[in-house]
Amino acid sequence: MPPAPPAPRDTRCLDARDDAARHAAVAEAARVIRDGGLVAFPTETVYGLGADAGNSRAVAGVYAAKGRPAFNPLISHVPNLEAAVRLGRFAPAALSLARAFWPGPLTLVLPCRDTEAVCDLARAGLDTLALRVPAHPVARAFLEAAGRPVVGPSANVSGHVSPTDASHVLSDLAGRIDVVLDAGPSPVGVESTIVDCSGLEPCLLRPGGLSRERLEIVLGHALPDADGADEARPPSPGRLASHYAPRAVVRLEAREVRATEALLTFGGLRPHGSEAARLILDLSPAGSLEEAAANLYAALRRLDAEGVAGIAVVPLPREGLGEAIADRLGRAAAPRPVPEGD
Ligand code: AMP
Ligand code: MG
Repeated sequence: MPPAPPAPRDTRCLDARDDAARHAAVAEAARVIRDGGLVAFPTETVYGLGADAGNSRAVAGVYAAKGRPAFNPLISHVPNLEAAVRLGRFAPAALSLARAFWPGPLTLVLPCRDTEAVCDLARAGLDTLALRVPAHPVARAFLEAAGRPVVGPSANVSGHVSPTDASHVLSDLAGRIDVVLDAGPSPVGVESTIVDCSGLEPCLLRPGGLSRERLEIVLGHALPDADGADEARPPSPGRLASHYAPRAVVRLEAREVRATEALLTFGGLRPHGSEAARLILDLSPAGSLEEAAANLYAALRRLDAEGVAGIAVVPLPREGLGEAIADRLGRAAAPRPVPEGD
């Protein structure tokens, strides 16, 4: 039987876009977290759905608001490395990565040191935890003010595209959460890169806003994929086949646009049939993968809002952030329905 829908909430949007409004908005959002409420907050990757990581009722509220059917481990967010080392055990490689890339779009999975500050439900009962120090100034101020780790899966209904703007959050979660802290569009636009540092050697759990190449420079060696490396590892919702899904059918590596399709392109590319495309969105006319990542989810949402039935996606470069973009587009194109999405 599907779970009963959560009781409706009165969702407030707090404006943190300019300096004058930010302080009061952040203080109020932090108060709501301490009181066990649900706050969608901006990060440089996507908007997160925040709750006190040590409050299992609040964490359960996150799953309910998202309509996420399974309890999967969540990423806990803290304002700095000092807070992180109280929660997780850092091997030397993990510490090097944290020093090099925090604050930033990197999540580390580590052995857990504090099972109260990050409750069982937030860790899905594992003895490891996922930690991140986001770089977004509003996220950092919010986490400082909250004074405790804050879980933050993407602030969307399960299975929908991740939100990169407060309006995306509201279109999914209005009436289901207490507050949206609005700081405008997310600059990176794809989720964090997740590196598992809980085993003998670090491995990549999910490509994301920090490229594999940059991680490998700091590690001094290749970073292997986790897939298949260890059967004891928990299933990662971000690794499910269909995820980040728009309603439209997504066709990858398209070298022509077919009748009735919209075109999702890059670097000004106009494949055969573009003239007749229902709509053309260029993720980055200048050919920047960073810009393409930042625009990806808003473009998928826009194509859905326009009601297009099919999306032809041109081939994109695979280096740098191209790996994360290809990963998300691959999931957007995967067969549906898959009820376990995030
Ligand atoms: P998101 O819903 O975008 O916040 O994704 C969280 C990701 O972190 C999921 O893919 C989780 O499976 C992964 N994750 C969180 N905690 C752990 C953990 N302790 N071990 C392995 N993966 C984790
Ligand atoms: Mg998500």
